[in-house]
Amino acid sequence: GKWTGKEIREAFLRFFEDKEHFRVKSSPLIPKNDPTLLFTNAGMVQFKDYFLGKEKPPFKRATSCQKCMRAGGKHNDLENVGKTGRHHTFFEMLGNFSFGDYFKKEAIEFAWELVTKVFKLPEDRLYVSVYEKDDEAFEIWNKLIGIPENKIYKLGEKDNFWAMGDTGPCGPCSEIYYDRGEEFACGENCEIGKCDCDRYLEIWNLVFMQFERDESGKLTPLAHPSIDTGMGLERIASVLQNVPSNYETDLLFPLVKWASDLSGTPYGKDEKSSTSMRVIADHLRALTFLIADGVLPSNEGRGYVLRRIIRRASRHGRLLGIDKPFLFEGVDEVLNIMGDTYPEIVENGRLIKKVTLKEEERFSKTLERGLYIFAEIIDKLRNEGKDIIPGEEAFKLYDTFGFPLDLILEVANDENLKVDVSGFEKLLAEQKERARKAWKGGVQKVISPELQKLSEESPSIFIGYDHLEGIGKVT
Ligand code: ATP
Ligand code: MG
Ligand code: MG
Ligand code: MG
Repeated sequence: GKWTGKEIREAFLRFFEDKEHFRVKSSPLIPKNDPTLLFTNAGMVQFKDYFLGKEKPPFKRATSCQKCMRAGGKHNDLENVGKTGRHHTFFEMLGNFSFGDYFKKEAIEFAWELVTKVFKLPEDRLYVSVYEKDDEAFEIWNKLIGIPENKIYKLGEKDNFWAMGDTGPCGPCSEIYYDRGEEFACGENCEIGKCDCDRYLEIWNLVFMQFERDESGKLTPLAHPSIDTGMGLERIASVLQNVPSNYETDLLFPLVKWASDLSGTPYGKDEKSSTSMRVIADHLRALTFLIADGVLPSNEGRGYVLRRIIRRASRHGRLLGIDKPFLFEGVDEVLNIMGDTYPEIVENGRLIKKVTLKEEERFSKTLERGLYIFAEIIDKLRNEGKDIIPGEEAFKLYDTFGFPLDLILEVANDENLKVDVSGFEKLLAEQKERARKAWKGGVQKVISPELQKLSEESPSIFIGYDHLEGIGKVT
């Protein structure tokens, strides 16, 4: 029969337990004592000091299913959510780890055995990649495992040299891909390493931890080469359940269905509404797990990411015609699907709902205020006989009132007005540049003093999506 998400999670952990790996619980989404990292973005994060040799591990091998968040910093998939069927902000990463114990050969053998013998994926659908300078990994795949040369891709740093952040443990990696078939191809030139579509789905990354990178970028070999692997649970579930994307797996589909029922629009009716449902499904999980791990909406750092996520989901609800707070009720759906695996979300269920509702209400107020200001701008333009909203005005709506550009364009369109988008984008770029220059490390404010004052006086003022850029420097 088909694998459920729960069965896959358990099969992975069991497989490695049988190979003497110690099963370790997921650590929280907020990394402990690590100001360089905004969120836990991979399974290795809780083991960082073992890799670096700063702490002695109590075991030589470990396996885990780690809660991950990639919405800021080096690994940021926030904008990918909705666009691809394989990226989430919150997801679960299955992994096996060796702390100076086994290395490349065993890591590759284990992975191949699990994928072909336990999950029984057909070999002809599988492809692998190695770091272009890593002849050793190439040889293992080719000679030992028997993968033909033309199915082993040699890729550069961008794809096959993994790093947790700008500093810290890193090393060459090797990835396993599953070919979902031609119908998923992006075009004639669809190929691993060349395109970024859903056909060749990256399911597993095997990282050969070999270096520590310091602030100057210098690589120092680790005393004990180690192994860190990561397999996205939702991705392998999409393959084993033979569904077109992560969103149709049993891990996410109930949430998509919930959004569809609530809006009265069938999933799949058109691309725009389906995208909104996927964004809502993804963001519901993210907000639930973030609040359970102690994050609250705010105007900076982690809280800002949470705020942005709630507002984005809320905005997509509006696009589906839902114009009242609704996300807080979706939290129950997340608890239903994931509560027995992650009791912390059940324990904090009431708080999660309360915080979410409050933020949804706040966002409504912000939008109302913004719409009022927008109406004033429109009046003024009409009086002057103009029909283009200047870049500065659009930017003010975006920056101060949290209006996404698509909403600005939509309102303008309703009023038969145009928007100076390139002027808007210029201001956006300038602001990003300022934020980058103002950045001195650590989580700090990168907003103007006036805006800060304004936002303190009036809590409904949202200080802008873009300030996240500053946070982007914290990996
Ligand atoms: P991609 O190239 O698809 O963005 P990645 O190379 O950035 O993935 P890794 O850092 O290698 O991903 O993470 C290990 C594994 O975690 C991936 O092979 C994939 O299965 C899964 N994964 C990575 N990012 C996401 C995400 N945003 N949502 C769901 N699963 C993910
Ligand atoms: Mg990625
Ligand atoms: Mg990749
Ligand atoms: Mg990868």
